[in-house]
Amino acid sequence: MVEDFSPQCSSKGCRAAAEWQLLWNNPKIHTPERRKTWLACGDHRASLSSFLDARGFLREVTPFASSDGAVVS
Ligand SMILES: [Zn+2]
Repeated sequence: MVEDFSPQCSSKGCRAAAEWQLLWNNPKIHTPERRKTWLACGDHRASLSSFLDARGFLREVTPFASSDGAVVS
């Protein structure tokens, strides 16, 4: 599975820089320790996290820094 690590908001059509990372897991398709990552700008953190939380997928929201090992290409 190829992940897109460019540090932009994951909200559809939004190209703002990511400020938050939303770590989530879908227990129907992922093993419990697996984490998927969405990135969010300040404007979309609430909407993206509530989307995941409503489905019971959201595990953690942490501040995102592009120096955190993300590959910028
Ligand atoms: Zn956004």
